[in-house]
Amino acid sequence: MRVLVIGSGAREHALVLALRKDPAVSAVYAAPGNAGIAQHAEVRAVDATSGTEVAALAQELNVDLVVVGPEVPLVLGVADAVRAVGIPTFGPSAEAAKIEGSKAFAKDVMNAAGVRTAHSEIVDHPGELDAALDRFGPTWVVKDDGLAAGKGVVVTADRSVAREHGAELLEQGHPVLLESFLDGPEVSLFCLVDGETVVPLLPAQDHKRVGDGDTGPNTGGMGAYTPLPWLPAETLRAIVDDVVKPVAAEMVRRGVPFSGLLYAGLAVGQAGPAVIEFNCRFGDPETQAVLTMLDSPLGELLYATATGTLDKVAPPRWKDGAAVTVVLAAENYPARPRSGDVITGAESTGTGVESEVLHAGTAQREDGALVSAGGRVLAIVGQGADLAEARRNAYDRLAGIKLPGGHFRTDIALAAEEGRISIPGTSAHG
Ligand code: AMP
Repeated sequence: MRVLVIGSGAREHALVLALRKDPAVSAVYAAPGNAGIAQHAEVRAVDATSGTEVAALAQELNVDLVVVGPEVPLVLGVADAVRAVGIPTFGPSAEAAKIEGSKAFAKDVMNAAGVRTAHSEIVDHPGELDAALDRFGPTWVVKDDGLAAGKGVVVTADRSVAREHGAELLEQGHPVLLESFLDGPEVSLFCLVDGETVVPLLPAQDHKRVGDGDTGPNTGGMGAYTPLPWLPAETLRAIVDDVVKPVAAEMVRRGVPFSGLLYAGLAVGQAGPAVIEFNCRFGDPETQAVLTMLDSPLGELLYATATGTLDKVAPPRWKDGAAVTVVLAAENYPARPRSGDVITGAESTGTGVESEVLHAGTAQREDGALVSAGGRVLAIVGQGADLAEARRNAYDRLAGIKLPGGHFRTDIALAAEEGRISIPGTSAHG
């Protein structure tokens, strides 16, 4: 099987490495890729948001499967364009990708499917903002109703901060979504979905805030770990049976079946799991941890999803132990990340034993130096017998990497390792 991966983040680097381990995969290409991906796959230039360009490249490379990593191409119909030329594609249609691209569409599907989610209201006019804020909070949750890469959300107990964010979005012409605050620890559950067939992967947890102790602004994600020692098996089953399956069935019923990776982001509160959001693709940085634990051939799973035969393949097997991803971000990320800093000590082995360095915003300078070229620069994955060992392996590896001005969180997976995460109304896991 020849596979083309679309995207240029650490998530795509993880996909490339996992695909290369599948004995049925004979060639892996990536477009546009990055400096790290280029060490493990033939990288080609492409405008990832152009369906015409991606389809033409897939034909030229004569691939059997295209895997679309990021949400923007999916929302713009890149998967539709590749399928239209007869190549199996892992990723939903533009219509189905609205589950992520439009929060209003997602709410509508969830309400029809009877899935618990935050109560919400859309505000279109500045004159409506104050009265609407009075109906919510504290705590206020103010979102951009569209794709914002996790950065368009403000969660705050300060009404003036909530108001300012809402007013700013409206000024930019973006409708504002106000939501009730969902309490409880967060879960990212990735599911392979082909119509009504739902195959869950290992649950993970992301760390969205830039600073230790969940402080500072939201980011695209500063780190993640899997599995979740504090999540009871019956809660996980309830997420699959009472959240993801009803949503997949509702999308089939609407004539927009979902095919690809359906990512449920949930808060697990006293009354059970409630959906914060759905995404239409693998999450970054959780994917880097989840795929590290995968003990089944990834190509087979993605190909089966893409060709509507997911119900015919064996469910994924998982390694024992845990994996932790720590993101190394550029100076000033998430506000205005600085580019062009020289990175040293980031050599990837590609074997993924104990630790692996995955590239996100990196580029190779003309003189051959590896330089930063984005907000999240590297994702360092550690694997181990438990979270403590996985954490140690990730941070030990990170200690050998130098990036001027670079910053990272020192507490990824720490609360889980120390048994400090609990579902409201229950006692902490020991
Ligand atoms: P989103 O872009 O919708 O994923 O939101 C980004 C982050 O904001 C989430 O991962 C949560 O940490 C937080 N968040 C979003 N919506 C809510 C909500 N209704 N209640 C509590 N936290 C939320």
